[in-house]
Amino acid sequence: MTLTRRDITELLERHGLEPSRALGQNFLADPNTVRRIVRLAEIDSSTNVVEIGPGVGSLTTELAATGANVVAVELDRHLLPVLAETVEPLGVRVVHGDALELDWAEVLPADRVWNLVANLPYNVATTIVLDLLDDVPQIETMLVMVQREVGERLAAGAGDGTYGIPSVKLALWATASVVTRIPATVFIPQPRVESVMVRIQRRSEPIVNVDHDALMDLVRTAFGQRRKMLRRSLSTKVTPEQFEAAGIDPSDRPERLDIVQWGALTAAVHSEA
Ligand code: SAM
Repeated sequence: MTLTRRDITELLERHGLEPSRALGQNFLADPNTVRRIVRLAEIDSSTNVVEIGPGVGSLTTELAATGANVVAVELDRHLLPVLAETVEPLGVRVVHGDALELDWAEVLPADRVWNLVANLPYNVATTIVLDLLDDVPQIETMLVMVQREVGERLAAGAGDGTYGIPSVKLALWATASVVTRIPATVFIPQPRVESVMVRIQRRSEPIVNVDHDALMDLVRTAFGQRRKMLRRSLSTKVTPEQFEAAGIDPSDRPERLDIVQWGALTAAVHSEA
């Protein structure tokens, strides 16, 4: 059973609910789009899927229909009676909680691999993706819907116009690509922004073997003044000799450096620390 626009309107009305803007509630109301997303997720009955923000269950019902083991984490308690009706009878485990605060080790057993498939709440999407990469290694792949600019930034490589702090942080742990656009017309209510699906694949290990906090400290400092050359923005943190040891041109700007170069710069600074 895939929820239609009429089903969703009826469910919301019957439960006395209005979509909450504060919680980023834009519900998928187009069965064709939902089926397309689930095809892109490449899941089957052997897959463990975690969804963040099931809403009324538009995507969840179709995820469950593949036979996958589905766990869905929803913050809004008002939606729990709806999910009890739409997805729990299909065997989905609904967890009431905040994706930013959850004890993930308890919710997702680490003895198996998990795939995140979600239409994320847009205001916290970047934080959710990056926190999960940092803290929840059992999630190996993600297929997430996010605001177009956010998706392009997560997937950007060095030299791209949207390359920034989240791009570097993501590249440490994973590779990412924008796989498709989703028009605003498929949601209730329609968001004012464009949406994309991003596929993220965790690397078997971080691509550079340096202290992550030290690396991100350099990245944040440099991107904090992204128009400046690195020799200026990092003048208190990196010496000319360290730039040279890392093979980095100090007259470059931060968006020119890929993750391997950020790793080399961090290593050069810390070998003398
Ligand atoms: N998956 C549904 C769909 O596609 O129709 C709903 C997607 S809606 C964009 C985002 C959902 O995330 C909402 O159901 C919202 O209540 C929920 N949400 C917002 N913040 C959350 C958080 N911190 N943790 C878990 N769920 C959250």
